[in-house]
Amino acid sequence: VREAGGDKIVSLSKATHKALNRKALIEKRLLQALDQKNLKVLYQPQIDVKTGKISVVEALVRWEDEVMGVVSPDELIPIAEETGLINNIGSFMLERACEQALIWKKAGLHLKVAINSSVREFRDKNMAKSILDMLAKTGCPASLLQIEITEKFALEAEAATFITQQMRKLENEGIVFVLDDFGIGYGSFRYMQILPIDTLKIDQTFTRSILKSEKTQKLMHGMVQLGKSMELKVVAEGVETAEQADLLVTYGCDAIQGYYISKPVTPEEIEELLVK
Ligand code: C2E
Ligand code: CA
Ligand code: CA
Ligand code: CA
Repeated sequence: VREAGGDKIVSLSKATHKALNRKALIEKRLLQALDQKNLKVLYQPQIDVKTGKISVVEALVRWEDEVMGVVSPDELIPIAEETGLINNIGSFMLERACEQALIWKKAGLHLKVAINSSVREFRDKNMAKSILDMLAKTGCPASLLQIEITEKFALEAEAATFITQQMRKLENEGIVFVLDDFGIGYGSFRYMQILPIDTLKIDQTFTRSILKSEKTQKLMHGMVQLGKSMELKVVAEGVETAEQADLLVTYGCDAIQGYYISKPVTPEEIEELLVK
């Protein structure tokens, strides 16, 4: 038996150990950050193709920890989902989004704010009520709130019925639901059928390869047409260049989001963008 083989096993378990330690540390620090409201929110604008104006801004969580430095949402959100802290992040983001939407409304700016949420958060029987309570508490009109939903896992049939009911309740109040990561999220077509969706947001991986691949062009064009045929709005995200934007506008996308317009920025910077 060669030593190297043994080393490999040791280093693997070391890596696992390290990952577990980091997860535990993130969980511990995140609890504290939530307690002290130490998370930040940046907003990324979407441009309405018809008007050429910013119509919606998406709230994205940002966390810079004193000890760990910046922890990206791609690392943070899955851990938060696993540990249940996603509910705390969700209510923090919801409160901030409602407050900010109201500030903009009072300033005479017509901006809707979108928050992100996983479909499974709606399995919580208090989800709809706590969203409506937050709107009431902050005084934010429901019509200013959008919820972008996504799902990485399969959903049990019993849960789907309950989730649909909760979403309907919110939709009736005027909240708009967006199916995020369309085309790659779990069960995109099924969710299109059963959930009260207003808008499709085509996943940015498609946008990324659209100029390089004719297949992707056909796929994206098809997805936009599919959305239209179901009377949904269609948003393209991850748009970084004028060429990508042009193509997607030609396909009939209703709105465009991505670094080509702006990266996620502070509320003040959103206001500066509105002036331009
Ligand atoms: P998402 O909802 O699909 O958000 C888009 C992500 O792509 C954001 O990353 C955004 O900064 C980035 N992005 C936007 N435009 C471009 C572009 O033109 N090029 C490239 N390369 N990237 C672009 P971020 O903020 O790191 O978030 C990653 C994911 O984490 C989000 O994907 C979302 O699923 C999740 N997330 C972020 N904030 C929250 C939150 O408050 N709650 C929940 N539940 N999830 C969140
Ligand atoms: Ca999103
Ligand atoms: Ca997305
Ligand atoms: Ca994503």
